Amino acid sequence: MKLIGGFNLQNSYAALPKIFYSEQSPAIVRNPQLILFNTPLADSLGLDFNGLSIEKQAQFFSGHWVPEGAKPLAQAYAGHQFGHFNMLGDGRALLLGEHLSPQGELWDVQLKGSGPTPYSRGGDGRAALGPMLREYIMSEAMHALGIPTTRSLAVVTTGEPVQREKILSGAILTRIASSHIRVGTFEYLHFHKDLEFLKIFTQYTINRHYPDLKDRENPVLDFLYAVIERQVQLIVHWWRVGFIHGVMNTDNMSIAGETIDYGPCAFMNTYDPSTVFSSIDRSGRYRFENQPAMAQWNLARLAEVLLPLLHSDQQKALELAEGALYFFGEFFQKNWLAMMRKKIGLTTEEDQDRQLIQDLLHWMQKNKVDYTNTFRMLSVSLLKKEDLLNSDKDEEFVSWQKRWRERLGRQSDAIEGAVALMHASNPAFIPRNHKVEEALSEATMTGDLTLVHRLLGVLKQPYSESPSFSDYQMLPPFGDSHYKTFCGT
Ligand code: AMP
Ligand code: MG
Repeated sequence: MKLIGGFNLQNSYAALPKIFYSEQSPAIVRNPQLILFNTPLADSLGLDFNGLSIEKQAQFFSGHWVPEGAKPLAQAYAGHQFGHFNMLGDGRALLLGEHLSPQGELWDVQLKGSGPTPYSRGGDGRAALGPMLREYIMSEAMHALGIPTTRSLAVVTTGEPVQREKILSGAILTRIASSHIRVGTFEYLHFHKDLEFLKIFTQYTINRHYPDLKDRENPVLDFLYAVIERQVQLIVHWWRVGFIHGVMNTDNMSIAGETIDYGPCAFMNTYDPSTVFSSIDRSGRYRFENQPAMAQWNLARLAEVLLPLLHSDQQKALELAEGALYFFGEFFQKNWLAMMRKKIGLTTEEDQDRQLIQDLLHWMQKNKVDYTNTFRMLSVSLLKKEDLLNSDKDEEFVSWQKRWRERLGRQSDAIEGAVALMHASNPAFIPRNHKVEEALSEATMTGDLTLVHRLLGVLKQPYSESPSFSDYQMLPPFGDSHYKTFCGT
């Protein structure tokens, strides 16, 4: 069905049994104003709102104007939050439907902050402007970095206040995702202990995300492996760029392997594997270095749910699940090493590479250097054919660089090849915490989005150096050891 702005909404989720969701209309908001719109994303989805007045667009992206044929719904799910099981669900988001793009791909269109739902558990169902702009900036930065992620199509302000610690401006984000199916969605089914629903939903998910597995001998086992592979690849990307998700609860882990639910996430400046920014993560459960272990823990919850579908013999099912979880570790190590080799320009493999990489990371941690800039400067030093630091300043680093240059010398590729590989693996620009906060403060306090647009512009091409943006490569003057992030409520 052809709809507003070229939307071609399908309702495959709404066609699932009612246990999976609750039908819910978006709340009508007082004065919706469209303040951010992602034209390149709209273009790639075959959407065009030019024929609609700005008022109509604002009405659409606030949920005020629900297109005919759309069946807005809140998805049911559960989740382990910091290790504790809870029944959850979309408490402040609604799925409008799935847009079928001209390329034949299906994309969830979700309004976040669109009012209460049956899963709001006492919450107001609303979102504040700062966190919605933050999700827009972070998700678009991740996309430009080449990392699987949900996307942000639009932000509207609602003209209504939301009560948090302070009164804030309300906003709604339109989120695009290859789906919003979470590990927690499977856990919700586990809680209901209905094998038939589990079968229906697993089949739906395989058809939607892993259709090639449909005709395999054991499609559910292959599905589990496929989810593990995507999750490993995702976390290896996070490690590549220094990203800390901050709240990797099972309800915030996408089955499609996309980064989802940008709450207290942040990028690390100084290299320290124990970095954690989230104010609620007091034990450091989701600190930078713990992300692979937490992903594996979450995937163990998924494997538990899938057990009855893995094999009719319980013991055999357990063995298959354990094998898959063991594979996580091996696959992670392999992918991590391949990624780190690229970060230092290696195109061939030698046994000593792991040690070479670990020695660099160890030095970086000890000397509290910037994760992003150090890798970038290493490639520049290769081009200049000179060491990064003066020899009497740091012998350890000088000797590391000597080993590294010798190692590079054993590759047949020219140095330019190594540099190109490093430039494609090491961003020049990440959303530095202080720059994100600076842009958000200006937007939320004065309504001026100039800095948000400037930041988005810088983050669009994160691998291309640009002297006019050099202030976005600098560290905050007093470091960020006290920087704290908060959940996007
Ligand atoms: P999150 O921390 O954003 O992943 O959210 C965890 C759970 O809390 C999800 O079920 C959300 O839908 C729900 N939630 C978060 N904020 C609100 C809110 N303001 N009102 C209702 N539910 C919310
Ligand atoms: Mg969430």
